[in-house]
Formats: sequence, structure tokens, C-alpha cells
Amino acid sequence: MAMYDNRCLSLSVFALTLLLLASTTTQEEEEESPITRFQQYLRIKTAHPNPDYESAVSLLTSQAQSIGLQAQTLEFAPGKPLVLVTWPGTNPSLPSILLNSHIDSVPAEPSNWLYPPFSATRTSEGKIYARGSQDDKCIGIQYLEAIRNLRFSHNFKPLRTIHISYVPDEEIGGVDGSAKFAASEEFKDLNVGFMLDEGQASTTDEFRVFYADRWPMRLIIKAVGLPGHGSRMYDNTAMENLMKSMEVISQFRGNQFDLVKAGLAASSEVISVNPVYLKAGSPSPTGFVMNVQPSEAEAGFDIRLPPTAEPDLLKKRIADEWAPATKNMTFQIREGGPMRDYMGRPLITAANDSNPWWCIFKQAIIAAGGKLAKPEMLASTSDARFMRQLGIPTLGFSPMIETPILIHEHNEFLKDSVFLKGIKVYESIISSLSSFDGGNTFGSATA
Ligand SMILES: [Zn+2]
Repeated sequence: MAMYDNRCLSLSVFALTLLLLASTTTQEEEEESPITRFQQYLRIKTAHPNPDYESAVSLLTSQAQSIGLQAQTLEFAPGKPLVLVTWPGTNPSLPSILLNSHIDSVPAEPSNWLYPPFSATRTSEGKIYARGSQDDKCIGIQYLEAIRNLRFSHNFKPLRTIHISYVPDEEIGGVDGSAKFAASEEFKDLNVGFMLDEGQASTTDEFRVFYADRWPMRLIIKAVGLPGHGSRMYDNTAMENLMKSMEVISQFRGNQFDLVKAGLAASSEVISVNPVYLKAGSPSPTGFVMNVQPSEAEAGFDIRLPPTAEPDLLKKRIADEWAPATKNMTFQIREGGPMRDYMGRPLITAANDSNPWWCIFKQAIIAAGGKLAKPEMLASTSDARFMRQLGIPTLGFSPMIETPILIHEHNEFLKDSVFLKGIKVYESIISSLSSFDGGNTFGSATA
């Protein structure tokens, strides 16, 4: 029995070795291409809570160096590296172009995926499945591939210096990533004149572009009241006051949503308020104690404000109506980064002819055979806000047309043809932006 087992074992080890040898050979034989380089990046497990930044840094560094670009690693918080790639321009005194993307990804639940989320499986239809394929490892590799082509196929030389930044922690707020980068001396030294950051997929044949982000606010409302027997009716219990507050908030939410439903505003142009948790009750071994009215109740909300909204007005509404002290209610607000730029202006990049960068960007898309949709505000939040806060005109753009929007969803994928077309679009954008020899002052670039 034992002998038979051993023979089986050695046979299967032999078979396995053969298999491994075979697969190594196939991998080696598979030619390096933009797609395989994209897949290599996608296979690095960069999902929170433990993103493998180290492997990503070494891959990006070697890809950048392989096309003769300088790459350095900066670290503004321990274990949170940032890769900065540079292609010097022939006139380095002109403000530079910064192309940004984030290294990290949100987690994925493998059981809900058709293919393992970090396998970067390419189907016969050309769909590449991976967490991060749309958000936003695609642009990270497209920037490099576009520069590779400009350098080696078109012998292009940029007038302005081009930088690419690969930042950590965007998906958890960017505090140790872009926020610290934007505030650093190293960033100041880059003398950035214009920045491109991530955007979102478009389901039509028009590319989407984003000129502002919404501003995130986290709200926690707490109600306290006298506990009592579950049979008693009395005023001002914690639960009653929290429920009344929820009704008022629901009314506000409904009014905002009605504007969207009526077509009067895009969903990114209103204040969204969504309850994300409720916490109350006295736990028991079988669930909750059912005959006691609890003395505390709490609810949490995800709120997003368009950049033109007045946060102080909303805060007053919260204090007066949503969590009134007269009803024994308190609240906490956590603000997600800057709301106004250094001059006190809303964080908006002008997406019109008053902004020369906008004109160049738009022309470059058309020159690449693309169509551009009406510029939008991003319903969520990206690192772009930290650069807009410095007054740097920043557009959010990821060249994905005819693609379902799958960021943070199960089975995130990007088609190989869409990825490859995106490289061509970036060749046009990067060459146009870096050739712009206009003056150094763009007072109207942020509106
Ligand atoms: Zn993203």
C-alpha cells in the first residue's frame, strides 16, 4: 500500500514537473506585449487591507526603466511607497504635465467572480478579468505604453517634462498618499502645470471626462433617551428621536433625488445622503432583548456634496433638524479632504475654452478619432481634489468606451481592444499637452 502510494506520488510529482516545465516554456514563449505587461501589473495583489506595494513598485520601476525613463520611489508614510516616473522635456523651465494613477485596489470576493480576481484571465472574447482592470491599473500601464510608442516609434521629444505618479492608498482616502504628496517639497519641485487623473468607463462611444469631484462627508448621529419597559409609551426615547431624524433626512434625500429623476440635475450635481449603518438595541444570546427600549441609538451616513454646495449650510441643517440638541441628539462629521482651493474657490477645473489645457485635451481626443461626452462632475471622489486644491487644473479621464462600469464590482474587466485603443488616445494627449508652448499663467484654468 505504502509502496503503491509512493510510486503514485513520485509519478504525480514527475507529471507536475513536466506540467510546470511546459507552462514555464509557454509563458517564456509568450511574447511581451502591452497586454502581457498590463496582465503582469493586474496579477499583483494590491487590494486592501494588505496591498502588495513592494511588488508593484518593482514592476513599475522596471517597466519605466525598460523604456529609458527615470523612476524614483518616494515614501511619505512608512510602507506606503509612491513611484515617480519622469521624462524630461527639452524646456524643463515650463510647468510640467503630471499623469496620476493609484496602485491600490478595493478588495474582491473571489467566490463571486467568474475567474480569480488577480488572475488577469483573458477570455476568447478579449475580456481581461481582474480587480483593478478599470480602476485604475489600465491607465497606469497605458501612460507607459503611450510613452514607449512616442519615444521609439515616433521619435517624439516632449517640450514640457512629463511625470507619472503611482500613488498608494487612494481607495482609503489618500491621506498617506496623494494628500501628503501634494503637500510635499518634492511635489512643489515638479512645477506641475496640468494633471490628468483617473476617470470612469463610458457605456457609449463617447469618452467621459470629469472636471470636479464630489466632496465626501461622513456623518454619525447619536440619540440618547431614558430606557424603559417595551410596553410603555413615553416621549423622547432614543429610538423615537432617531426614527424622526431618519424621516427628516429621508425627505431631504428624496427631494435631491427628485431633481435627478426629473432630469434637472445629474446625480453627481446634487447632495447625496445615504444611510450606511444603524446601531441600537440590547443584544441577547438569541438576538435582541425585545421588551426594553434602549437608551442609545445611532446611525451613520455617507454624504457627498458637489463642489458648489455650501457645507456650512448643510452643517446648520444637521444641527437644527437632523440631530437637534433639544432632542438629546449629537452628531460627528468627518470631512474628506479640502472643499475649497488655496484661494477659497470651489475645486473645479474649467472645462471650456477659457482653459487652454482643456482645448488641447479636447483637440487631442478628436485627433485620435475619439468623441468626447459633455464634461461631468465625478459622483464619487478621487485624488484629483488634492491637486485642484493647489489650483492645478486637473481632469479625470480613463479612455474606456463601450465598456460597462464595473469599478468596485464583481467581475471587473476591460477588453483588450479598448485597452489598446486607450494607448493610442494617450499618445495623442501626451504629445499634445507636452508640446504646448503657451505662457506660464493660467488664471482661468480653475474656475
Ligand atoms: Zn480609482
